[in-house]
Amino acid sequence: MITILAPAYNEEEVLGLFYNRVCNVIKDIDEEFELLFINDGSKDRTLQILKELASSDPRVSYIDLSRNYGKEIAMAAGFDHVKGDAVIIMDADLQDPPELIKDMVREWRNGYDDVYAKRRTRKGESAFKKLTSKWYWSLLAKIAYIPVLKDTGDFRLLSRKALNALMECRESERYTKGMYSLIGFKKKEILFDREERAAGKTKYNLKAMLLHAFHGITS
Ligand code: UDP
Ligand code: MG
Repeated sequence: MITILAPAYNEEEVLGLFYNRVCNVIKDIDEEFELLFINDGSKDRTLQILKELASSDPRVSYIDLSRNYGKEIAMAAGFDHVKGDAVIIMDADLQDPPELIKDMVREWRNGYDDVYAKRRTRKGESAFKKLTSKWYWSLLAKIAYIPVLKDTGDFRLLSRKALNALMECRESERYTKGMYSLIGFKKKEILFDREERAAGKTKYNLKAMLLHAFHGITS
């Protein structure tokens, strides 16, 4: 079985679209799937929508966090509850195209433990975000003793073996992007063009971005 893990914070506008597009892709893949959502303390109808999805589709389940902890902790909460032999981490806003699931599963069957999606292009980012991101990555490249993959986020498939290793990292101030490099294993890159979010707004304001960058550096 393969688990699709999606953290969601105030994603009422996109969850239905996300669910439909994922279902449309996985119906053609010869594997069993579960969809595991993490409601990260949403204040909108996210939880209600997840309850509805879970009651109408037995493949859907969710974890409901007691407050907004941020994506890093939300993912970590999810890791502990993955039932699959592999996990695919995806944002709920459709910036990570579900159509790539097919390629990830193919490479997993070829024996890779970490099939990560690298952004060839990215839409919907301001000039400010692009510039500060460039500075951040050149700084990180200089100081990190294990290279962190550029233009690559959490969108990836991890084998059970890689996931188990990741779950041994129990720190609470998390920089998961660094942990994927830390754990090693057989990695395979696939390229994709990152779309704008299907609806809603980014949940990362400047403060959250700075905190994330800080965790990257101190980790
Ligand atoms: N997210 C979360 N908790 C947060 C912030 C974000 O679970 O505190 C989720 C969000 O719902 C989405 C993913 O993390 O599924 C990425 O967030 P977002 O799209 O806002 O980030 P961006 O793509 O703009 O970097
Ligand atoms: Mg997004």
